[in-house]
Amino acid sequence: MQEPNNQEVTVMGWVRTFRNNQFIALNDGSTNNNLQVVVELGKYDDDFLKRITTSASIKTTGLVIPSMGKGQKLELKATHIEILGDSDAEKYPLQPKKHSLEFLREIAHLGFRTNTFGSVFRIRHSLAYAVHKFFNDKRFVYMHTPVITASDAEGAGEMFKVTTLPFDNTPRNEDGSINFKEDFFGKATNLTVSGQLEGELGATAFGDIYTFGPTFRAENSNTARHLAEFWMIEPEMAFYDLEDNMNLAEEFIKYIIQYAIDNNREDLEFLAQRLADEEKQLPQDKRSEMGLVEKLEFVLNNNFERLTYTDAIEILKESNHNKKKKFQYPVTGWGMDLQSEHERYLVEKHFKKPVILTNYPKEIKAFYMRQNDDDKTVAAMDILAPGIGEIVGGSQREERLDKLEQRMKEMHVPVEEMWWYLDTRRFGTVPHAGFGLGFERMVQFVTGMTNIRDVIAFPRTPKSAEF
Ligand code: ATP
Ligand code: MN
Repeated sequence: MQEPNNQEVTVMGWVRTFRNNQFIALNDGSTNNNLQVVVELGKYDDDFLKRITTSASIKTTGLVIPSMGKGQKLELKATHIEILGDSDAEKYPLQPKKHSLEFLREIAHLGFRTNTFGSVFRIRHSLAYAVHKFFNDKRFVYMHTPVITASDAEGAGEMFKVTTLPFDNTPRNEDGSINFKEDFFGKATNLTVSGQLEGELGATAFGDIYTFGPTFRAENSNTARHLAEFWMIEPEMAFYDLEDNMNLAEEFIKYIIQYAIDNNREDLEFLAQRLADEEKQLPQDKRSEMGLVEKLEFVLNNNFERLTYTDAIEILKESNHNKKKKFQYPVTGWGMDLQSEHERYLVEKHFKKPVILTNYPKEIKAFYMRQNDDDKTVAAMDILAPGIGEIVGGSQREERLDKLEQRMKEMHVPVEEMWWYLDTRRFGTVPHAGFGLGFERMVQFVTGMTNIRDVIAFPRTPKSAEF
């Protein structure tokens, strides 16, 4: 930065505070640091000064000079101030003090004007940019998969229906079921739960593709890690096996973290301080062992722990935590689905770093995952992160047509309807793999925000779709 030397500048922004009828803390949204604007005493009448209130927008011209005050190197000695928009201090909901996150969620339309959300959403922006940069540099093709779809990638019944049929006098078939032939698309449609299947179509032509778009799940899980509308990144790579897939995912996560450290240092340090302050209220054993930035650097500098589902079950079963019956869901043995408490135990207590679990039982995974030779497991991989739990879900895909069809039948996935998907296995099938990373969970990890609702601007959760 240039030394302040009386150059004249014009700045615009919002007043954060106005002190002693003299010092305006002005913020333009580019950083949490305010510019101190010094108002010459006696130059303006009281009526004018009264309008310089928190969140009023102003345009001011002045000279940049070294600051005598503590806390800033320079300040603006105003020669001209214009009020662009008044803000009634009585009615403005944000006071220049610390508000609870619960309160801020109720006024999410103004949340960006706070330091916390300012930092979170500048980082969110950076991470989104880093996602595109990472894949573009590797020459992946960014694919836009449909938001409205007739397919259900997971075979799960957790989809939002898309229809223009009337609620009363709904057209019915003779057997009483709804006649979707009358519907807008002539068939039942829903909001996408994943772009993967379409992504595979791209990968088997371009080689490497990725998607990055909104995803919808009508799951009624009111947790700090689930949204009904979230953003997912789904790379899909031809000629990749499970190991290549894990390597890419680990490199990708580290790249994004490094990008934030390199480009968002100030905001990260603000959030780190915020987190540390918050944790002061917790008992010692509930506090994080590392600060936010320290945690991110630790993840960068260490390999993710890789182990099979089978080994993980063994560790969990033999853990004191399990023997002392401290899990809400006891570890019954091989074949069980891991609950988030089990995942977090492995990551936070046992390994104390990110973990990649591989080769899950086929019964608890999706039909498209490649079957291993043991006939029991599939080439799946989940990445678990401290404080978050599952952050990535992926697999090598079943590229053998006969095996895939057989598995679809076993799992009651409609083979006929999926003719277009199966065509990739009919015409030049190749080994391929991919994964899905929940963008908000990644933002949570980097910002240290404990609730997923605080890393998306307008969260959609059960019974909540304000703004
Ligand atoms: P979970 O067990 O946590 O519900 P999942 O097994 O349903 O996750 P996948 O279907 O594998 O998740 O989706 C891929 C990734 O998308 C997950 O690893 C996670 O990061 C993210 N994700 C899944 N569901 C949600 C959700 N409801 N809100 C936010 N992110 C989600
Ligand atoms: Mn889920």
